[in-house]
Amino acid sequence: KSIHRFSTAAAVEELITPPVQINYTQLLINGQFVDAASGKTFPTFDPRTGEVIANVAEGDAEDINRAVSAARKAFDEGPWPRMSPYERSRILLRFADLAEKHNDELAALETWNNGKPYEQAAKAELPLFVRLFRYYAGWADKIHGLTVPADGPHHVQILHEPIGVTGQIIPWNFPLMMFAWKVGPALACGNTIVLKTAEQTPLTALFVAKLFHEAGLPPGVLNIVSGYGPTAGAALASHMDVDKIAFTGSTDTGKIVQELASKSNLKPVTLELGGKSPFIVCEDADIDQAVELAHFALFFNQGQCCCAGSRTFVHESVYDEFIEKSKARALRRTVGDPFKKGIEQGPQIDPEQFAKVLRYIRSGIESNATLECGGGRIGSKGYFVQPTVFSNVQDDMLIAKDEIFGPVQSILKYKDLDEVIRRANSTRYGLAAGVFTKNINTANTLTRALRVGTVWVNCFDVFDAAIPFGGYKMSGVGREKGIYSLNNYLQVKAVITPLTNPAWL
Ligand code: NAD
Repeated sequence: KSIHRFSTAAAVEELITPPVQINYTQLLINGQFVDAASGKTFPTFDPRTGEVIANVAEGDAEDINRAVSAARKAFDEGPWPRMSPYERSRILLRFADLAEKHNDELAALETWNNGKPYEQAAKAELPLFVRLFRYYAGWADKIHGLTVPADGPHHVQILHEPIGVTGQIIPWNFPLMMFAWKVGPALACGNTIVLKTAEQTPLTALFVAKLFHEAGLPPGVLNIVSGYGPTAGAALASHMDVDKIAFTGSTDTGKIVQELASKSNLKPVTLELGGKSPFIVCEDADIDQAVELAHFALFFNQGQCCCAGSRTFVHESVYDEFIEKSKARALRRTVGDPFKKGIEQGPQIDPEQFAKVLRYIRSGIESNATLECGGGRIGSKGYFVQPTVFSNVQDDMLIAKDEIFGPVQSILKYKDLDEVIRRANSTRYGLAAGVFTKNINTANTLTRALRVGTVWVNCFDVFDAAIPFGGYKMSGVGREKGIYSLNNYLQVKAVITPLTNPAWL
């Protein structure tokens, strides 16, 4: 077992939290930390510096087989699906208490491995992580079926049963949050799980899975396999003994996962995929607020949000003022070591994403969008990108069509509502939208016309546990969070028995 500490002296000096140790780097299968069957490991990095922070067991198809067997056995023979829902709920609540106790340590580990501002992780994401588990703990003993009337003398029960062994594949941008969105409802419904973390961010899931076992989760119920997509991820999606697969990541990978699921055993699939969400600023909007919100909508989490407001549509009457103020705001954005107080933006996750973001910036310049500010890297190590604002962006430019997944704001001008509705909807994505107006009628027109799974009106990125999230079109299939997520993890069984001499039907 390897113990690692922060390596940069400067960071330690200015840390706003105690250094965290990495205690868990193996796979978690059947309640035990184990090496990969192949004995292989892979490095995981600190995006501030590009330095290796730990070597982690590299799971592949063989380890997925072991984890699925453990999950199968725990489902078919173990106590988890059979225990009282109240007992399951109490284990989820005990876990939430433990995660809350480790709030700062988990947030530090998340920041170290992902590069997100520590204050964001500690004050916003971890509390929401805990909240999600408490929310689904509340559901565990409230999941029930129905009885329905039949035409003849039959007693009809509709049972809601756990679906079985669930496979879950998550991305690197919100490692703990994506864990919660998937693991919370699956466990509340009595399923067992094999979860594959993103290869960039394997660390926090191992830590919280350990806490789950401390909270009393039986072995085999939650198995964590670190590893790469085309090996471990594909093996999970195509496994014949996995009853359901839930995936969050890019649209291209989502298509592969769906294909693997259908080619194997037709397991049902839920997908949370990419986006190119419009943020619409109407002529009557409070401009200072709209500028601040549009900035937040795009730059939050280094721009690495599936629902980032990445097409800022601004009415022509306020366009020039909006550009000036957006540029000034981006220039004020604090970028640097995410462990420092007051830092709004850390590094991008890895060299690939960093290079991709810089390529899109070049493409914006080459296609004659106006570079208002930013456009380059910051420093010579790590993956820091200047907050970048483009104006005069046209719909057919790559920066207006593709998901950049970085701190690059594209501002587009529009004339009237019909036009902005048409342009906002002319994308293959349909994840989210922002609408900024003081006029209730305008808000109602836009919220109904936009073909997206979430519309934030005069706010953005509000993510309560009970609010469902997911995409129209190529942004996904199904919904997570809220009551909608429960359906992803339940089977419906109709049981019909004859009634002899019933007093009533
Ligand atoms: P990605 O699709 O490359 O990877 C996501 C996960 O899929 C990782 O765990 C990866 O290992 C795995 N994977 C990769 N290839 C696979 C394969 N062939 N078979 C099975 N699994 C495979 O995406 P990413 O770069 O990690 O994440 C960024 C993308 O995710 C963005 O496009 C973003 O919009 C999207 N995203 C969407 C949401 C949402 O809720 N809609 C949330 C977060 C991220």
